Amino acid sequence: MKIDASAARPLPQLLDRYSREYFKGWADGRLLVQQCPDCSHWQHYPRALCENCGATPQFREQEPVGTVYTYTIIRQMGVEPFRSEVPYPIVMVELDCGVKIMGTLTDCSVEDVHVGMPVEGYSITFDDSIGIPYWRPRTSPQV
Ligand SMILES: [Zn+2]
Repeated sequence: MKIDASAARPLPQLLDRYSREYFKGWADGRLLVQQCPDCSHWQHYPRALCENCGATPQFREQEPVGTVYTYTIIRQMGVEPFRSEVPYPIVMVELDCGVKIMGTLTDCSVEDVHVGMPVEGYSITFDDSIGIPYWRPRTSPQV
């Protein structure tokens, strides 16, 4: 499945500066994940406080690569453009730093998705500054 980038689709509501920075990062081709400078805890989704100790976390750029932690296959969807894209996999990707990020897996048949599958992230930018992350099978070895 390929994403039709020209199709209108619902976008995330950017309610705070943390979500704006995260989705702007994807629009610039950068995966930004928060890490706490006090206790080194990694967290996702982005928020104002470290969920472990309450300190102020900082964004750190991560390589957009990971493995499929779990997944599901969407086979029914009543709303366009998703209706035209079924069936498609939704994956929970575990990054090396341990955080998990959910997204749509593209460029892969639903029969080939599996737990432990190496994947890489990429984004499609909507409204000039909202980069929506997608995942595809990793074709090159991780460095
Ligand atoms: Zn902390």
